[in-house]
Amino acid sequence: MSSDRLPAGVPFVEPPVLLPALGREPVPAVARALVELTGGLSAHVTAEGRFLFIADTSLRFLEYSREYVDHASLFELTGIDDVPVVQEALAAAQTQGPQHCTVRLLRGLTDRLWMQLHIALYSPRTRTLPATFVVRGVDITAQKDSEQRLRELALCDTVTGLGNRGYIQERIAGAIAHANDGGPNFAVALLDLDGFKKVNDSLGHDVGDQLLRAAGQRLVAQIRETDVAGRMGGDEFVLVLPGCDDEQALNGIMKRVLSAIQQPFQVGDQMLHLTTSIGVAFYPRHGTSDGTLIKHADAAMYCAKDRGRNGLYVYTDDLGDLQRKAFSLESAMFEAIHNGEFSLHYQPICDPVTLAVKGVEALMRWYPALGPVSPAEFIPLAEANGLINLLGGWALRAACMQLARWDTTRLGGLYMSVNVSAQQFHHPAFPSLVWQAIADSGVEGHRLVLEITESVLMRDPEQANLVLRELQTLGVRFAVDDFGAGYSSLGYLKRFPLSALKIDRSFVKDMPTSSNDRTIVTAVLGLARELGLSAVAEGVETEEQRQMLIDRGCDSIQGWLVSQALPANELEGAFASGSLHLEGGR
Ligand code: C2E
Ligand code: CA
Ligand code: CA
Repeated sequence: MSSDRLPAGVPFVEPPVLLPALGREPVPAVARALVELTGGLSAHVTAEGRFLFIADTSLRFLEYSREYVDHASLFELTGIDDVPVVQEALAAAQTQGPQHCTVRLLRGLTDRLWMQLHIALYSPRTRTLPATFVVRGVDITAQKDSEQRLRELALCDTVTGLGNRGYIQERIAGAIAHANDGGPNFAVALLDLDGFKKVNDSLGHDVGDQLLRAAGQRLVAQIRETDVAGRMGGDEFVLVLPGCDDEQALNGIMKRVLSAIQQPFQVGDQMLHLTTSIGVAFYPRHGTSDGTLIKHADAAMYCAKDRGRNGLYVYTDDLGDLQRKAFSLESAMFEAIHNGEFSLHYQPICDPVTLAVKGVEALMRWYPALGPVSPAEFIPLAEANGLINLLGGWALRAACMQLARWDTTRLGGLYMSVNVSAQQFHHPAFPSLVWQAIADSGVEGHRLVLEITESVLMRDPEQANLVLRELQTLGVRFAVDDFGAGYSSLGYLKRFPLSALKIDRSFVKDMPTSSNDRTIVTAVLGLARELGLSAVAEGVETEEQRQMLIDRGCDSIQGWLVSQALPANELEGAFASGSLHLEGGR
């Protein structure tokens, strides 16, 4: 827009309505007629934004009366955030020629319209008169709206309707800027659905998409309005959680998220079960850019997966080291299997009153040259790299062989409890492996108890039931390990042919101090009785715990109070010396 003055020599007429006297100038009739044709905003204003002239069409367009405009300024018609933009454009127009700016004007004081304003100096400031400006505004709301829609489409994940990766990156960048302005710090949580690939591969992409949509909806339902949920792609989701800046705040919400995903999904006529592994990075502790935060949350998520899935892991600065260590452990493991560095220790399971030993649990041990590695470290690793099938198969055979050997000594008649991880259990060859171990050792099937976790049963209940029933025909019994730590729904227990519940160590540990844990243990024991299952309390370390378990009718206890897990020869020694005994005092 040029700053041309109105053409000289055209007869002037007074504007129809009185405007403030200052700088008011009559507008020629032809010019006015032209102006009235153009629509949008046409005005003549002072540097303070007061209207010296405004076209009738502008008033109709902006839905103001002339009386109102007489007393208002252009700034009062401008959206509050954009007032400085208009002020700057007026100042710049005085010295730098015509200016353009895009601002929101208020229609009828409420609606916001996107307007492109062109502002030009009309009369320069003189010693006696202040500067004035002509302002022309074009409505670009429709264009802005479609831009916005396009942006939303570009940032929208079409499968779930949540934001996509680009959207998440934008929102994290926004949260960073806000935090730097004094807003809250925040957490970025990356979630990966465990077992999704299997559903997608076996039931097809339609089912997969429906499952993703449903999972996305459950996530959104767990978070606050100020939180953000999005999908990174595949089966990965992200949450951005402002105000969640420590582990305590995090745990509350993540518990809800984990349990929301754990509930079965009904897709068509199928019930599907998923869990999720979550990695978390905090701003600014673990990164100060969206890229770093996502990368670190991702590394933490892989750690959560390695640790057995369905859990949460918070990024630590030494995670990079840990991953390197995990890698070298992994290669060491292959060697170790060849070198026979793995062994089994056996922990007695006893009658709580008489302390007579009824059975033992086989627990794997690894003593490489550099010092022992805990099963809590190498078992998840073996599960992640698939070696668990090899290791677990060996443990099963070795345990059965040991049982057969003990049968020829004074330790005859014990039962053997062997841990089975999810991967082993779901391996198609698993039933035949068990059958082989029993056949080769010559022990009877009922002497063998296989310990599986709740999540093994819940991952694919139909399939799990088939495996359980098949092995049941050999007499093999099943115990639910770490009971209480996973699923809270107990109804499913009835559906499976189980023989025992092992009460998770965490509940036993706090029984003396926590009435809550006492209630849980009492309830689990009641449940076991009702379902005709026996109950084994794990991790019994004190007389007080033992007494509380006796009072509540627990069948068996296992823990350091009686004995740690021992190598076979040391266990034999403990029986020989009388510090352990079998039923009937043997
Ligand atoms: P789990 O099956 O829950 O085994 C019980 C764990 O509690 C063992 O840890 C045992 O040493 C420990 N424990 C026993 N009594 C006490 C006590 O009084 N106090 C405390 N604080 N701890 C006690 P461990 O041997 O480190 O094994 C850890 C986990 O590794 C096992 O947990 C099991 O999930 C897994 N695991 C061990 N051996 C095998 C195996 O052969 N196959 C598979 N799949 N997993 C195994
Ligand atoms: Ca166990
Ligand atoms: Ca256990």
